[in-house]
Amino acid sequence: MKQVNLPTRDKPEQVDFLIVGAGPVGLVAAILLGREGWRVTIVEKWPSRYPMPRACTIDHEALRILQAVGTMEEHAGLFEPSRGERGGYQIRNGAGSLLREINWNRPAESGWANTNGFYQPDLEEVLESMAEDLPSVELRRGWSADAVAQDGDGVTLTVTRTIDESHRESLRGSWLIAADGANSVVRDLMGIQSTDSDFEADWLVVDYVPLVDRQWDAFVTQYCDPAQPATAVTSGPGRRRFEFMRRSDCSVEELGRPETAWRLMEPWDVTPENARLERHAVYTFRARWAQDWRSGRVFLAGDAAHLMPPFLGQGLCAGLRDARALTWRLSMVEAGLAGASVLNSYSTERKAHVREIIEEAVAVGEMVCELDPRRAAERDDRMIARLNDPEAATVEPPHPKLGQPSITAAGDENAGRLSVQAQVEVDGVVGLFDDVIGGTWQLIGLDVDPLLNVSAELQTWFLRMGGTVSSLSGDGPIRDVDGAYRAWFEGRGCKVVLSRPDFYIYGTGTPEDVPRLLESLRAALNNSPVYTEAGALS
Ligand SMILES: Cc1cc2nc3c(=O)[nH]c(=O)nc-3n(C[C@H](O)[C@H](O)[C@H](O)COP(=O)(O)OP(=O)(O)OC[C@H]3O[C@@H](n4cnc5c(N)ncnc54)[C@H](O)[C@@H]3O)c2cc1C
Repeated sequence: MKQVNLPTRDKPEQVDFLIVGAGPVGLVAAILLGREGWRVTIVEKWPSRYPMPRACTIDHEALRILQAVGTMEEHAGLFEPSRGERGGYQIRNGAGSLLREINWNRPAESGWANTNGFYQPDLEEVLESMAEDLPSVELRRGWSADAVAQDGDGVTLTVTRTIDESHRESLRGSWLIAADGANSVVRDLMGIQSTDSDFEADWLVVDYVPLVDRQWDAFVTQYCDPAQPATAVTSGPGRRRFEFMRRSDCSVEELGRPETAWRLMEPWDVTPENARLERHAVYTFRARWAQDWRSGRVFLAGDAAHLMPPFLGQGLCAGLRDARALTWRLSMVEAGLAGASVLNSYSTERKAHVREIIEEAVAVGEMVCELDPRRAAERDDRMIARLNDPEAATVEPPHPKLGQPSITAAGDENAGRLSVQAQVEVDGVVGLFDDVIGGTWQLIGLDVDPLLNVSAELQTWFLRMGGTVSSLSGDGPIRDVDGAYRAWFEGRGCKVVLSRPDFYIYGTGTPEDVPRLLESLRAALNNSPVYTEAGALS
């Protein structure tokens, strides 16, 4: 840990939130907070955006979060949905035989396509300009965070000019979000340990622009060839990606050369004549999660909190879930709408959720990265025997429940699972629910009035904290346009759902259950803050 020198400003002005890292997770957190008027300062080490290829698929839930951020209004075109005949995920062996096929074209419960291709640098450019357009958000590029101190009132962050270490400043915020990536300095400064899984593999990632129109068999294909494990994926409009595992007879340097990329892509007839190499880089795929995601007023989010091999396309999706789960809590606490104890469940809910996804990503990685021809052949036989077995493990990301303790209704099987969004029609306007009706907390009934048994006082409390109440039906004033809500409610055996700002279910039931649900939510939100002896919030 570096020594903290005296700050150059004696008393820096205290903003509401400091964020370290202007990657996608830090930017999304900043926009979510900035849109509510909170004063946010983001500190980013590098003077310009990271240009290398990383995430290229994103799921429906993450797109609903980007919808809340305001990105989808003008920039939905950044994302290419997996649909049609060639949508989906295929796993093939070295001989090209199909080992498993997953149809990704199912309707997804968040109102967006189940899986979507995109180009991360384009998304980051949009997010950065959205953050900069917000009057209460300041982005300070070219400053590295290198020391953190906290007290009962806030956090002091020491930052150094990245290109000139003699320039130091102190920044002050009520809370700090560390979205500073896999090598998080803040995580280390807070002394937070991580748990590592044993998984580790070097892969070359090659992004290219096809110069000719070409049909591929699937949106994503994993080639489980022990001679050369590879992945081919649609990576956003007009783009494709290949990923190749490093074999022991190839050094990292050799793998990283452009001629190696061309050689490895040749079997698929991707050549300099029909494709333009855009970027290529070698990454070490790992799996890791932080043991604590909070230290007093400091919270970890995104890759700073967790890392996974990208076989399920979930690293960024998980980071965006963190941003949403954290910002609604922080915003409510700062606004006096919730006690600080709601912050305790950020770690417990998110850590268990992401661990399940990491474990599945590692399992898929181990299957794909098998280099032993005998074991690979046995794997192929097993998978071919189960090709048509719906019970066979999928390569869909799992849909975990939030971990415990959580802000959810006790004893409800649906609580802690992802909620639903679909098209509704109100006064002739058709659109996704969050755009047409919205609401941070959503109380929705199907064919019933969810407020039937709720006192005026409880209704006022719910509306005051940004709740909306809707009664949907097939032909009423809020129309369930394509029956998606009906199917969802019937599938879960309920008539009412109460959803949280991060789209997870607080509780379900019938109108008779609503007063109890709202009362228990009010109690959960209003528990008193917990202080440690040092005065910091625990
Ligand atoms: C090859 C590859 C493929 C992937 N594919 C997918 C996919 O298909 N789908 C998916 O969901 N995810 C995927 N991921 C994961 C995804 O890219 C990451 O999870 C995501 O970029 C993490 O975002 P972040 O904002 O948490 O961290 P980052 O994007 O790493 O941002 C952290 C930022 O913090 C800054 N920073 C670091 N230290 C400091 C400091 N001391 N002071 C100030 N600033 C600092 C850094 O400069 C950086 O800008 C993939 C990753 C890789 C490598």
